[in-house]
Amino acid sequence: DDPRRSFALDVVRRLQESGHRALWAGGCVRDLLIGLEPSDYDVATDAPPERVMQLFRRTVPVGINFGVVRVLGPRPAGEVEVATFRSDGAYLDGRRPETVAYSSPEEDASRRDFTINGMFLDPIRGDVIDFVGGRLDLQAGLLRAIGDPAARFAEDKLRLVRAVRFASRFGLRIEAETSRALGAMAPQVTVVAAERIAQELRKMLAHPSRAAAMRVLMEAGLVAEILPELVPLVGRPAGLVSRPGDDLWDHTLGVLDALPHDLSFPLGLAALLHESGTAAGGPGEPDAVDRVADRLKLANAERERASWLVRRHRDLREPGSLPTARLKRLLAEPGIGDLLTLHRADAVAAGDPADHVDDCERYLRDEPDGPIRPDPLLTGKELKQIGLPPGPAFKAWLDRAYDAQLEGKIADRDQAIAWVLRQSAPGIPPQ
Ligand code: ATP
Ligand code: MG
Repeated sequence: DDPRRSFALDVVRRLQESGHRALWAGGCVRDLLIGLEPSDYDVATDAPPERVMQLFRRTVPVGINFGVVRVLGPRPAGEVEVATFRSDGAYLDGRRPETVAYSSPEEDASRRDFTINGMFLDPIRGDVIDFVGGRLDLQAGLLRAIGDPAARFAEDKLRLVRAVRFASRFGLRIEAETSRALGAMAPQVTVVAAERIAQELRKMLAHPSRAAAMRVLMEAGLVAEILPELVPLVGRPAGLVSRPGDDLWDHTLGVLDALPHDLSFPLGLAALLHESGTAAGGPGEPDAVDRVADRLKLANAERERASWLVRRHRDLREPGSLPTARLKRLLAEPGIGDLLTLHRADAVAAGDPADHVDDCERYLRDEPDGPIRPDPLLTGKELKQIGLPPGPAFKAWLDRAYDAQLEGKIADRDQAIAWVLRQSAPGIPPQ
């Protein structure tokens, strides 16, 4: 059925027939036990990487220091990562081990982060190999670090964020000792590279459990380190924009919950930060999106789209507050789909009707007046003909004439010229 699954099975069979121990490992085993479709299959084996590269025709040594070889399958079966059983040496920098050594399945399980991620499955014999109690924890709904939680978080501080991601994604409680260590060590998450934190945030926002993830992230004290812009939302009355009794943080979580299951990262980020500009204080301060984008080293396109969404969202908040011309210009922007989605989620979270979003979407569907963004009827050429000297006033005239065109006040080039002449003597900028 699933070609990736059958390719991952082929890889295990080939290794086993060549005399090796080979098992599915980690996330795919967890997903199969929960009854979810794994996003990818990882194989763990006692064959060293050189041997794996001999046994399969198309391979890429992706992490040769860690004994990881990517085996490429026939399309569209994709690829499988084959890793040699290993134990990790000392972690000196709070990020990665200094050395690794090839070892046994049991030791390989114990270097993994959480019990639910530490299991193996032999797909030929059909048995689960569980040295760490992952199956019991799954049944009990618990996320538990393998071994001593404080020591495991100290080794690799990214695990602090991973704990939140896995707990929220699978609806697990964080086991007491793991939770205590998480809370105590949260401030140390700052040693993790910005890109790795951003990658975790992306995954959390991409998943429908995103509101739960942000709630647990806040409770664990990680928001204060990663996204301090959100902290002032807690306890801050939300007033008219939300349900009675909600603070701005409750409201923000409500908006995340009201978003559709699939969304772009900039939309998720904009929803998360849409109230932060107001909570952070005065005008002139850098936008919350900009501060987050700098800290997490986000791509420029992501930053720009997210801050556009937050800014325009404020414009659109008052139904009917935008003049027709500005609304039409907005509806022609490339991000309008995400903007309306954000706007609808905001209305739903506040318990308000989303009539104006319906209106905009209907308008976009039906386009009653032809293209939303027609070519301008008035250009610099006409202004020169009228005798307007080129200069800063030019652009203001063109903008205003274009608004008049979008509002239906002028319908052709002659009317546009007449309109300019009527408005004021040339040379005097429009107010
Ligand atoms: P996802 O569905 O997000 O890919 P996953 O469990 O497959 O979840 P990966 O990051 O792909 O997560 O890692 C694969 C496996 O490698 C994990 O299940 C875990 O056993 C181990 N692992 C990954 N990152 C770490 C880490 N930082 N510390 C310890 N073990 C880890
Ligand atoms: Mg994975």
